[in-house]
Amino acid sequence: MKIEKYSYSKLDSFNTCPLKYKFIYIDQIRKKDESIQAFLGKIIHSCLEWIYIQKLDNKVSYFSLDQITNKFKEYWDERWHSKIRFYQFRHPKKLSHFIKQKKNDYFTLGIKTLVNYYSKYGPNFNQDVFRLEEKVEFQIKGFNFISIIDRIDNDGSGNIKIIDYKTGKKNLTEKKMLKNLQMGIYSIAANSTFPEINRDNITLTLFYTMNNKEVSIKASEFDSKNLKNQIIKNISEIKTCEETSSFDPKESNLCNWCYYWNECNAKTKDNPSLYLD
Ligand code: SF4
Repeated sequence: MKIEKYSYSKLDSFNTCPLKYKFIYIDQIRKKDESIQAFLGKIIHSCLEWIYIQKLDNKVSYFSLDQITNKFKEYWDERWHSKIRFYQFRHPKKLSHFIKQKKNDYFTLGIKTLVNYYSKYGPNFNQDVFRLEEKVEFQIKGFNFISIIDRIDNDGSGNIKIIDYKTGKKNLTEKKMLKNLQMGIYSIAANSTFPEINRDNITLTLFYTMNNKEVSIKASEFDSKNLKNQIIKNISEIKTCEETSSFDPKESNLCNWCYYWNECNAKTKDNPSLYLD
């Protein structure tokens, strides 16, 4: 029997819209469609991962800026596909010009992001990187969870830093991070991965790649009892919907970045965003 696993994405998907959750996790309708912002975010993640893999596995200690921007171009070209979309309230008059421009804007934004990162951490990238894309499995009150953590740093003196790269523009404050479900789940994942490390010595960091800004809190700042209760309540809401096969649409601004409009009974047409190919 397949073991049911929860993750932040799964809970977030349900909280954003139960019907979208059903399409993804119950009906397993997989779509290749993604926004240009999501596409760019994945490429930036891969470039940063590539740098630290070269350091950890191949003992490379120096990188030129060209090497990194070339890697970005390589990933961009290799992974570009026909289902990349851009949400635009009013469709532009000169469509082909607009599409070319948007593609160019996001490509340039990616290069700029990496140039900024290089100017702060290059050419040696001497952070205390310990693990990359770490798959962590743990339990919360008997429910199985899985998290993929972008980067874990370990300074060798008993201090662990859990890093999640964010490629969006909007930065969370420390106060908001303490209410953030993803960070809460990461704090539990970190405790279970490093049980010997005091929670005061585990830092959770959101790293905003566009401006090299870090926002951090300590794992010990979470009220873990409340957090676990909140997560269990969330799971029980999901289970109720699953048992009754009742998943209501929850319309919001986020529908513009949902690509299940054809399947959704709250929508009468396809998502109006533009394909950029
Ligand atoms: S279009 Fe909106 S309401 Fe419909 S499934 Fe997607 S997020 Fe939910």
